[in-house]
Amino acid sequence: MSPPDHELTGATVELLQAMIRTACVNDGTPSSGQEVRNAELLAAYLDVPGIELTHHEPIPGRRSVVATLTGSDPDAPAVGLLGHTDVVPVTADRWREDPFGGELIDGEVWGRGAVDMLNLTASMAVALRTLAARPRRPRGTVRFLGVADEEAGGVWGAGWLAEHAWEEVACDYVLTESGGLPLASPSGVKVVMGAAEKGIGWRRLVVHGTPGHGSVPFGADNALITAAEVVRRLDAYTPRADLNDFWQAWVRALPVDERMQAALLDPDRIEDALAALPPRLAGYSHAVTHTTFSPNVVHGGTKSNVIPDRVELELDIRTLPGVSDEDVKGMLGEALGDLADKVTVEEPPHSRPASASSVDTPMFDLLRRRAEAAHPGAEVLPWMIVGGTDAAFFRRRGVPSYGAGLFSAKASLPEYRARFHGDDERIDVESLGLSAQLWVDLADGLPDA
Ligand SMILES: [Zn+2]
Repeated sequence: MSPPDHELTGATVELLQAMIRTACVNDGTPSSGQEVRNAELLAAYLDVPGIELTHHEPIPGRRSVVATLTGSDPDAPAVGLLGHTDVVPVTADRWREDPFGGELIDGEVWGRGAVDMLNLTASMAVALRTLAARPRRPRGTVRFLGVADEEAGGVWGAGWLAEHAWEEVACDYVLTESGGLPLASPSGVKVVMGAAEKGIGWRRLVVHGTPGHGSVPFGADNALITAAEVVRRLDAYTPRADLNDFWQAWVRALPVDERMQAALLDPDRIEDALAALPPRLAGYSHAVTHTTFSPNVVHGGTKSNVIPDRVELELDIRTLPGVSDEDVKGMLGEALGDLADKVTVEEPPHSRPASASSVDTPMFDLLRRRAEAAHPGAEVLPWMIVGGTDAAFFRRRGVPSYGAGLFSAKASLPEYRARFHGDDERIDVESLGLSAQLWVDLADGLPDA
């Protein structure tokens, strides 16, 4: 693989710094984010001969930009580089540096979005402009999508574009976040590439009781006390583990001994084995083998002297591939047991099934080759992302979509995951250059569709 060139790296650093400083913080409310600022920045950067620019702004401020470099051969596959432009909120006083300063300190760019995912979004825009500046166009079309609202489910970004502007955004492959990270393992270095992600099926549980005077609690039908037991049962509930292919591959990469590996691959012993893993490995390992239920929000009660008759619990449910809404209903019934008749389950509108792409494609082969060239001796490990990304909107339409990128050993997987939505988010300059170079090389290296 061509080493990242200086210009590519320098341009990515500068664009990333500028994008961090716009502070497009998406707190989940429709008026937050205001990604129009990053969209304008990107459009100005990509306003060069050969690139066709359009944008969509479904509600004020939530602008996404589409930049297309048409290839020389209409039969060659079109590649979509999909980057979000929003970031999650910060707890600023926990940071060592200004989260929106975009400072370059000791070879690292600091700030919210430095790993999720303004780093990749900037590197994608830089790659597109680099390709456009060459005398010869790439054979296949390369399309950059700088999208709003990924951090709140893509409703005003990729989800909106896939529904309302499909002709404009359609591609043969889509590449987005959550891949390219090296991981040291007993069997050598692995580089993960995202090939699947879990589904999202949030639910609101309304727990019912009977109102009464707070001075007479004995024998009362208090919805809050029932809700406490509902939460306890949800926490104790474990559906049977699914030892899917991603899990099998992941276990072989885990830094644990053979006895532990065998236990993790045994359906009867996996729960105890998960509990014995170090915490930094256990969370992901549990999530990749289970549909999970996390009660995260509670609203209830009206007044200190009134026994509540209604408490609402919001559950973050993440489903494995193959798990349907009907299955989730069954699992909730199992978890609640005899309390099920005191609870109404409401389904909010934004749920989506798990999605996966075949890794048997020319694009995945190419990702594999580039990653192995950057990390000699390493092996690429297709993995399942347990959160959500915008790839889901494209997989749903049959487009093979991968979580990609390319990172240096300084951004190892455990380190990177800790910075995701965390404090002191930052990325090393070498990783920025590697990712920008990857997108350029992919545009050059694809065989015909
Ligand atoms: Zn992200």
